[in-house]
Amino acid sequence: MTTTPTTRGARRFAPALAAVLVLAFASAAAPQAPRATPSPLPPGAVLRIIVFGAHPDDCELDAAGVAAKWAAAGHKFKCVAVTNGDIGHWGIAGGPLALRRRAETQQAAKILGIETEVLDNHDGELMVTLENRRKVARLIREWQADIVISHRPNDYHPDHRYTGVLVMDAAYMVQVPFFGPEVPPLTRNPVFLFSEDRFQKPQPFSGDIVVGIDDVIEKKLAVVEAMPSQFYEGGCCDLPTGGLPTDAAGKEARRKQVRDRFTARFASTADRFRPRLAEWYGAPRAAGIKYAEAFEICEYGRQPSKEEIRRLFPFFGDGAQR
Ligand SMILES: [Zn+2]
Repeated sequence: MTTTPTTRGARRFAPALAAVLVLAFASAAAPQAPRATPSPLPPGAVLRIIVFGAHPDDCELDAAGVAAKWAAAGHKFKCVAVTNGDIGHWGIAGGPLALRRRAETQQAAKILGIETEVLDNHDGELMVTLENRRKVARLIREWQADIVISHRPNDYHPDHRYTGVLVMDAAYMVQVPFFGPEVPPLTRNPVFLFSEDRFQKPQPFSGDIVVGIDDVIEKKLAVVEAMPSQFYEGGCCDLPTGGLPTDAAGKEARRKQVRDRFTARFASTADRFRPRLAEWYGAPRAAGIKYAEAFEICEYGRQPSKEEIRRLFPFFGDGAQR
């Protein structure tokens, strides 16, 4: 038997309309159930953290210290590079560079004891698309994240900005059941954080949570060393004047130069946020912290109390202001 398109459409429509009417009537008649309050994180829970960096080195530079600390305490941490970094070098590009940079993230993950993934978007070409929003939301859901970290949307590089926007766009959607329903929604909205930057407009980075990383600084510097395409060799735009050294003394000098540069950078975060370190650690401990990583709480996602932050970042000890 054949049916006309109109009949088929009407047959499909009629039960759907009836269901909508029944639901509308039922919800008008019954009192609305209050939206479930998400349960607080149980003490002793294994935390799950996912960090989205634009390129295969951003997650590591922003959060390798806390990654090493969480991983050492048995928590689960994942880095995601949202682009493959395939133009991030002055001398090579394309597939060979993307493969090299992925291998560098894998080496970094081995040092830190974490998981890592590189998405196959071209470097310098990331766009805020529905497909990418779905991809980011799916990764957050699959990881069952308690904490999600990314760039602020006023960072300097378009890939950084758009990575930040994609993560913010996912912040609400990860709970919405029929958005990308192939992965179940999260029942508890994660805490969303921004990683540190130096940009001032429209407002400077606020450094709400600052963690001392002196105990893992050697691991973080080892990660820098494990990404030579970006740091030792100079990435896209910082080939050392006179080229790369070829003799042993020159290579060692270059290695030390990179190490000193990043040691100073990680120290500058502790100096920049010394008063905030004192809030979390107490003044005496804060005064002795040399290296730090800092994070700003995003207004989207779950808004954690100070007590919850202490559970999520179990690094501060007892010396702080309560
Ligand atoms: Zn980057």
